Amino acid sequence: MTRVKVIPENKKNIIDKIIEMSGENIRDCMQCGKCSAGCPASDGMDLLPHQVIRLLQLGQIDRIVESKSIWNCASCFTCAQRCPRNIDIANIMEAIRLTIIRCVGNSRLKADDVPSKVDCKMPQQAIVSGFRKYNK
Ligand code: SF4
Ligand code: SF4
Repeated sequence: MTRVKVIPENKKNIIDKIIEMSGENIRDCMQCGKCSAGCPASDGMDLLPHQVIRLLQLGQIDRIVESKSIWNCASCFTCAQRCPRNIDIANIMEAIRLTIIRCVGNSRLKADDVPSKVDCKMPQQAIVSGFRKYNK
């Protein structure tokens, strides 16, 4: 019998990158749904956290990229606390967000662009964290 690859070859790199960046093993997810049941941001999500994991397992990254769930995740770590397989979905959500930001070259921030965008009343910490987020 021929083995069928679940993750399409053209999506494999991006999924591998997300796994590597997050340090989480998406293959351990057994779809119990405990993460979604406890997620305080689930009302604003079109894909629940366990559905995001399932789509990653299937290599369907396009559906995740189009969804608003990854941007609505509050990184509260409730899902990580509840997961019986010790999967930290907050890490995965962050890795997906970073991957998308990195793919959209135009949204990157260069050091030279910073002065024109900075409000001098901004806390220093906000400037540094914004630069870290958008120059990756
Ligand atoms: S970290 Fe994100 S996905 Fe997990 S419970 Fe909190 S809001 Fe939901
Ligand atoms: S709680 Fe963990 S094992 Fe259960 S669906 Fe969520 S990620 Fe998968």
